[in-house]
Amino acid sequence: MTTITAKINKWNPEPEIISMASEILRSGGLVAFPTETVYGLGADALNVEAVKKIYEAKGRPSDNPLILHLSSYEQAEGLVIMNDVAKKLIKNFWPAPLTLVLNVNPSAKIPLRTRGGLDTVAIRMPDNPVALSLIDAAKTPIAAPSANLSGRPSPTDFQSVFNDMNGKIEMIIDGGETEAGIESTVIDVTNPEKILMLRPGGMPREIIEGVLEKELEIPDALSKKRSPGTRYRHYAPNIPVKIWQYEKNFPVDDVKNCGYLGINDPEIKNLNHKIIFDDVKNYAHGLFSGFRKFETEKISYIVVEWPEDDFGLSEGLRDRILRASSK
Ligand code: AMP
Ligand code: MG
Repeated sequence: MTTITAKINKWNPEPEIISMASEILRSGGLVAFPTETVYGLGADALNVEAVKKIYEAKGRPSDNPLILHLSSYEQAEGLVIMNDVAKKLIKNFWPAPLTLVLNVNPSAKIPLRTRGGLDTVAIRMPDNPVALSLIDAAKTPIAAPSANLSGRPSPTDFQSVFNDMNGKIEMIIDGGETEAGIESTVIDVTNPEKILMLRPGGMPREIIEGVLEKELEIPDALSKKRSPGTRYRHYAPNIPVKIWQYEKNFPVDDVKNCGYLGINDPEIKNLNHKIIFDDVKNYAHGLFSGFRKFETEKISYIVVEWPEDDFGLSEGLRDRILRASSK
């Protein structure tokens, strides 16, 4: 398949590009597009054949459900059973890197394939003008996991999407670098009494808890409520990833052949491949692109600093680092 690529103006998306991409989506094809978190691989969420193509293109396990991307609140109402907690979060935050898991509205025709066989569904409104105009023009919810091959680091720029998806999908929209760099925070709000944090991400926990005036709970390891997608090794480059804690021993002896990502500079002689970030926000923004950059350099290990803070994007970053470094 020949993949069409188009560079778009992020703040003022060209209508011709949006119209071409939305036609592809409406006719059951796949389009990769930028969101504020990472690039998404979009398909019409209500078209089972289109959704199957997402799983095929990514090599994604079929029990890992997809997030439906929406461009209006009314769209959400038709798809899920709303409750006051969800309404409050939507009103306060959307569009935002915040995904809500709710019970499916039985009258909505969301294929089981889209929701990984569950009776719940995940919804979100992305904070990116290209994504919003595309969803609006497609006039259907867009199922969009990250536009990488399953297990690989999520793509945060056009080139990374192209490397993983060229020849496999109909179109890639180049909207520059994404902002957050890690995926959305996923919370389960099906039970307003017990709100579960299924995946930390681009929306910090304390901001959500501030609005809810209560703590988010973590589902235990055996719970059925655990997010299916968090079971797998994920986000990993094809070079082993090791974790370094500030002021502890550096985990690799062969520093010449090591790439380092972190906020603190370990200041070790011959550690020549390193990317030092100003703060956690920049670290999250650059983690996956750093992984992909090091893959193109001749190194044998990647060492990442363990972010210790208990606020901001640190929790999401720790989750990505743990899963990228797990065997
Ligand atoms: P991705 O789109 O690859 O960033 O991953 C989507 C995340 O949302 C995965 O962790 C999924 O397991 C999770 N998710 C999607 N739908 C549901 C659902 N109905 N219940 C629980 N988690 C979900
Ligand atoms: Mg993903």
